[in-house]
Amino acid sequence: MLITPAGLCKGRMDADDLLIVDLRGNVLASANDRRPSTETPMHLEVYKLRPDVRAVIHAHPIFATALTVAGLDFPDDILPEVALTLGHVPVSAYATPSSHEDAEVVRPLIRDHDAILLRQHGSLTVGKNLEEALIHLERLEHVAEVFHHARQLGGVARIPPEELRKLANSKLLRHCEEGALPGAARQGRCPDEAIPKGDAVSSDQGIASHPSTSGVPSAQDARNDGRRQSPRSKS
Ligand SMILES: [Zn+2]
Repeated sequence: MLITPAGLCKGRMDADDLLIVDLRGNVLASANDRRPSTETPMHLEVYKLRPDVRAVIHAHPIFATALTVAGLDFPDDILPEVALTLGHVPVSAYATPSSHEDAEVVRPLIRDHDAILLRQHGSLTVGKNLEEALIHLERLEHVAEVFHHARQLGGVARIPPEELRKLANSKLLRHCEEGALPGAARQGRCPDEAIPKGDAVSSDQGIASHPSTSGVPSAQDARNDGRRQSPRSKS
């Protein structure tokens, strides 16, 4: 997989600074003789557990990270598009950054979630390509910032449970129609009874449409040939 280097400002990176490592973390190529990100074990853990994932972004978003410092849960019930896409965003146990502990605290959560908050550290978002992982990250931080401002303005209005159920059914139906259940939808099941009769199911494709993945090698390709540019990572 491609991975960003350690000890280099991400804003000053260019393509030659990226490294290629195999799925055990061994460096296969490094044009500028860089060392891989110290968070490489966490990225590798995701690829081991989620064959559907082709991109991982670890970041330190201010508002989302602040939630974990304050001991608050991620507010997954204040904006419809978040309930429809990210769903529940868990907060991991605390881990020492840049150690194998990060991989350990992510392990029990990443199978069922496309976005995780790392307690007192940052975020981890995944996707079938880099763009999708970035959209998850931006959505995560957007919600956390809106939540912060709403609290300052005097209170937070939650979406009623019956409306959340409609959104959950809509999300599940969409994923079932697509023939796959990504992490964010794995709490649900596809049988007909999962969708209550007579319930309105949104067909607004604009909210959860996914970008194309054409031209990106698969995770299996990466295992078969570690030198190919397969799952792309950013740390
Ligand atoms: Zn970090």
